[in-house]
Amino acid sequence: MRSLQSEIEQRGQRIFELVDKHPEPLFSKAGFYQRLMMLSMRDEQLKQQLFRFVDVLPSLSTSGEIVQHLQEYFAEARDSQKVSEFLGAGVRLARAVPWISGPILRWNVSEMARQFIAGRNSDDVMRTLRKRRAQKIGFTVDLLGEAVVNETETDEYAARYLDLLEGLSRETKDWTDPLGKNSALFPVVNLSVKISALYSQINPADPADAIAHLAPKLRPLLRRARNVGAFINFDMESYAHKNITLELFKTVFTEEEFKNWPHAGIVTQAYLRDSEADLRDLIEWGRARGTRFAVRLVKGAYWDYETAKSRQNGWDCPVYLQKPESDTNFETLTRLLLENESVVTSAFGSHNVRSIAHAQAFADELGVDRSRFEFQLLYGMAGPIKRALVDMGYRVREYCPVGELLPGMSYLVRRLLENTSNEGFLRAKFSDNVPAAELLRNPREILHRSRNGVLPPLNSTINMTKNTPKTQPGAPYDNAPLTNFALPENQEKMRAALREQRKQFGRKVPLTINGEKIWTDKMFSSVNPSQPDQIVGYAAEADIPEAERAVAAARAAFEKWRRTSFEQRCELLERVAEILERRRFELSALEVFEVGKPWSQADGDIAEAIDFCTFYARRMRLLGRPRLTQNVPGEESYQHYWPRGVALVIAPWNFPMAILCGMVSAALVTGNTVIMKPSEQSVIIGAMLMEIYEEAGVPPGVLNFLNGKGSVIGAHMVDHKDVDLIAFTGSREVGLWIWESAGKTREGQRELKRVICEMGGKNAMIVDSDADLDEAIVDSIYSAFGFQGQKCSALSRLIVLEENHDRVMERLLGAAASVRVGNPEEAGVVVGPVIDEAAYRRILDYIEVGKSEATLAYQAKDVPPHGYFIPPTIFTGVKSNMRIAREEIFGPVLSVIKVRDLDEAIEVANGTDYALTGGFFSRSPANIERIKAQLEAGNVYINRPCTGAIVGRHPFGGFKMSGGGTKAGGEDYLLNFLIPRVVTENVTRHGLAPEKTPEYREEFLWPKK
Ligand SMILES: Cc1cc2nc3c(=O)[nH]c(=O)nc-3n(C[C@H](O)[C@H](O)[C@H](O)COP(=O)(O)OP(=O)(O)OC[C@H]3O[C@@H](n4cnc5c(N)ncnc54)[C@H](O)[C@@H]3O)c2cc1C
Repeated sequence: MRSLQSEIEQRGQRIFELVDKHPEPLFSKAGFYQRLMMLSMRDEQLKQQLFRFVDVLPSLSTSGEIVQHLQEYFAEARDSQKVSEFLGAGVRLARAVPWISGPILRWNVSEMARQFIAGRNSDDVMRTLRKRRAQKIGFTVDLLGEAVVNETETDEYAARYLDLLEGLSRETKDWTDPLGKNSALFPVVNLSVKISALYSQINPADPADAIAHLAPKLRPLLRRARNVGAFINFDMESYAHKNITLELFKTVFTEEEFKNWPHAGIVTQAYLRDSEADLRDLIEWGRARGTRFAVRLVKGAYWDYETAKSRQNGWDCPVYLQKPESDTNFETLTRLLLENESVVTSAFGSHNVRSIAHAQAFADELGVDRSRFEFQLLYGMAGPIKRALVDMGYRVREYCPVGELLPGMSYLVRRLLENTSNEGFLRAKFSDNVPAAELLRNPREILHRSRNGVLPPLNSTINMTKNTPKTQPGAPYDNAPLTNFALPENQEKMRAALREQRKQFGRKVPLTINGEKIWTDKMFSSVNPSQPDQIVGYAAEADIPEAERAVAAARAAFEKWRRTSFEQRCELLERVAEILERRRFELSALEVFEVGKPWSQADGDIAEAIDFCTFYARRMRLLGRPRLTQNVPGEESYQHYWPRGVALVIAPWNFPMAILCGMVSAALVTGNTVIMKPSEQSVIIGAMLMEIYEEAGVPPGVLNFLNGKGSVIGAHMVDHKDVDLIAFTGSREVGLWIWESAGKTREGQRELKRVICEMGGKNAMIVDSDADLDEAIVDSIYSAFGFQGQKCSALSRLIVLEENHDRVMERLLGAAASVRVGNPEEAGVVVGPVIDEAAYRRILDYIEVGKSEATLAYQAKDVPPHGYFIPPTIFTGVKSNMRIAREEIFGPVLSVIKVRDLDEAIEVANGTDYALTGGFFSRSPANIERIKAQLEAGNVYINRPCTGAIVGRHPFGGFKMSGGGTKAGGEDYLLNFLIPRVVTENVTRHGLAPEKTPEYREEFLWPKK
């Protein structure tokens, strides 16, 4: 008996022989597409530009716009001669006669898209399906959709699916299975469905909500499919949606109505590390259900996305990192499927002849008849392989996307990426002409040989907080990863933490002064804004005498703390980071109750606090050692830093841990002693930070915790002669008062007070006429309404070019209406309550102002009746001089301002007192460059939300009335807490000078320890 490998080789060779018999080129359409492929494969940078241009093209309406984009994208292309040639009526011609070249280009790209898109609608696709029928190739049809951003769009999409199903079953009613044998397993009509198109608010943290919305949308389609004898397949999308898709599949097909229906299928992606476990689980489920089902095995289409996303978030990468690993796993899963043929029907979705030949050979080895499984390939790709498989007597089905060019763009770009990928089989065979023997090699063997089987690590990033961060000067900095709530274990941890926090309701926290716990006569209650009758906790309230004691304690502790080595102070911060990480879920849950933060936002706040600690520790190690100013023989001159003295930290409630911890950590690591005053609304979280610092070993008096009214103790301490530095984040009104008051020198004051002041914003995002609205709408909604718009970075003014205005509004209003408002204890809620009754009333007053000034275009209706819930609200027809366009509202209220052109947009965006964050959505490289240069904001965000700054990556803070120009989480931030000092020594003795002076020297500490 021959070995499996030789069987595979023999079959593979046979496929290649048949492929070579058909003269048709593999990338079937010559011309534009082929030139695009060739150029892309030659130059990675050019590939990026070409694909971006292809992506924006369908959204451009005039020839002039097309030509302008063309020039912008390729002005600096290294291979511009080739680009010109490739674009046919290219750049040169474009300048002269845009009305000719624009349409030609659009036509070329449409033609290219048509290579991968089987038809615009159900009538159109029938032409293709009939041709394939003649070639004995079956179909599964996929409806391309724009990324749905609201529930109106998902309803339309579901209706289009039903239409498609009707049309296909009507048109194909006399068709029979091309193979005949075992045809009952393979209905002629086969639809592929993507769940993300059926519910716009899928939140991976909340599978139950997603399933509750998706199941009712699917049932009518499934019923109809069952009645007409069709097959429904659930496609698999990104990893974040994987568990929901699996759960939905199992839930719906276990229901009484569908339990006995065998014509349901789902996709398994072999590039996922957990795919084998998932497939085993599915098979077990199928056996228990007692009815056949189907699995389409693919490698996976989102490899680039998954690797980039996990790197960005510091998550374990869910996909294999070496191509032969995916290939090997594909074969492992092939075996698993075929071994369980009694309950699962397999479809092998691959263009890779090795993967295909392996499935054939293994099926034979097991004695599974070739009519009991099928091969599936994509429309427009690998035509000769399809024919070869048909000739060999296998069942072949083609995956046929249907839809318009614009919605099809992301699909098209995925295919272009796949076809030009260095790792791809099709490129290797048909472009790079890799020999057949090489292409048929066993992927296990390749793995074994390459690097002796040593694979890249499972974690593509290092989690600094897990490995005690002993950062050295210059060491790279890694942010704390966000919690991935798509993972069920994290959902469960969060639920458990919420339950636990509930039990702690009503806890009491004291003041901490000089290490002593102090209870006062007055207790202050902190309530849950979702249910104000629930008291999260009580805090002792300080008055002037306690404030005096705290200042005295901090002053007394200063002398010793300033002489503590910076290394010890850095280690203190790193211990705090470790404790924050350990108590992460507990603290996040507390934030849900105390300030109404949705899960992921609460987790982000704790992650940011961790980042501040590790980042500032790292920065301090760079700043701490005295540094030579100039290398001059005979003289040593070293600059170093002293702390300023006693720091008063006054923090807001909206990032109750991150901002408080950031300011406190910066002050402490630089050698200042601190009085921290959290916001009255988030005092329990503040007390937790005190507790954590104590556990980490902060000495008595170095950090003091004072809770009380800002107007009483805050004001008293700002004016205090013994307070040297005030770090404040909060409202403009209070910030300006502190700035002014700290400028007055009091009797006995030693230092000029330093004020670090971060205030509000009236942030604008501009939507350009060529913006990708799928992204612009989702990101605008998130920026405006995430955490109820209570971030100083939140979007408040959406500036839309008139050309795009109506389309943007239609999608924006629908998207706003689809956002989940409710108690953030529920995992998927995006908009929770505002912080307290005063904020609630103030925002409602602004809404009244808006109604009198502009047009109320949208206001949510179903918000919970109790608690401080403000319905997300959108005004249109807003002019830049109106109050709602000028004043900070700090709630879920968005003003839309329509402008003529980009000039006016920039003028409006810059025309406020503030300059904190700003955003721009555009696909015009020239316009993007202009915004980079001209938008007045401390943080400018392009083609992404304008909130969510990450420590180290996006140093955060604004200017004008938004703040004093300091950047929290930035390289220079610590300098605000320090006084620079220079020590110069003449080291010449009788003309003898040392030749070399070290760049750094030991800290100036006395007495030395
Ligand atoms: C009929 C059909 C339906 C499909 N449905 C889906 C679907 O529902 N969901 C989905 O995600 N995809 C789907 N796909 C797309 C499919 O995932 C890709 O077409 C497929 O991965 C290409 O694999 P291949 O075997 O044809 O080619 P090959 O060239 O052998 O494999 C390419 C694949 O290998 C993987 N890969 C590339 N680089 C690496 C690396 N460095 N490390 C590890 N792995 C790597 C990627 O998955 C890449 O797509 C479908 C494909 C077909 C044919």
